[in-house]
Amino acid sequence: MTASERRVARVVTGQPTSEGAGVRLTRMIGTPELDHVDPFLLLDEFKSDRGDDYVAGFPDHPHRGFETVTYMLAGSMRHEDHVGNQGDLGPGSVQWMTAGRGIVHSEMPRQTDGLLWGFQLWVNLPARDKMTAPRYQDIPPERIPEVTLGGGVRARVIAGEAGGARGPVEGIVTRPLYLDVSMTPRSHLVHGLPARHNAFVHVYEGGATVGPAESGRALRAGQLALLGEGERLGVATGGVAARFLLVAARPLGEPVARYGPFVMNTREEIAQAVQDYQQGTFG
Ligand code: FE
Repeated sequence: MTASERRVARVVTGQPTSEGAGVRLTRMIGTPELDHVDPFLLLDEFKSDRGDDYVAGFPDHPHRGFETVTYMLAGSMRHEDHVGNQGDLGPGSVQWMTAGRGIVHSEMPRQTDGLLWGFQLWVNLPARDKMTAPRYQDIPPERIPEVTLGGGVRARVIAGEAGGARGPVEGIVTRPLYLDVSMTPRSHLVHGLPARHNAFVHVYEGGATVGPAESGRALRAGQLALLGEGERLGVATGGVAARFLLVAARPLGEPVARYGPFVMNTREEIAQAVQDYQQGTFG
């Protein structure tokens, strides 16, 4: 029985960093300590109620070869791209952007003070889809189902399935699961996962014990647990509540050539991306 229960392979603590025009954030994946978790290339958490930490935002910048997933807990961001797409991301909303062959866009806070809190995850694309046409899935909060997963456990289902509900994000090649889970104190979650999909838990509030009862690892907010293989995951809370992201997807097993906002398979493809961007023939 316990052979198929996932254990924690590694625990990493987020690293404070600065991105865009000077937005302060905490990087969980995409650091010297944890370069990537196939197919996840980056996970940032931004959380501040000080305008100085975020007002500079993310002015125009390119992406090619992967997907960016922005999930907002509090505050609002405006998104605009080079072909005129525009949208506002408010609390509880998600944007799953398949950059494909190229997007040049800006992501700017729509506030100068007050809490701005959310996450950006980068999901790799396989070689055959890296140059696909760009695609947006802008999902307002009311389209994200919230389900009960046992006593004291609730989850917003952004992608994949949980508690009999299916998340609104569709047609993603790596078949992701993206859950935002809330657990009351002294509650317990068991959730099934495809055995060979890579998965992580990022605790962003409170604390929880992740993994089998006899060998679980205690995580606090700001820590990420990289999970081993297995068919299901157990998470338990003690005296404090917990909120965390549970994310899983099919690994690609392809070479990763990465240069800033370009993620391809080879150095030659990276050089081409840089050239296309500089020549304005992007996307
Ligand atoms: Fe971006």
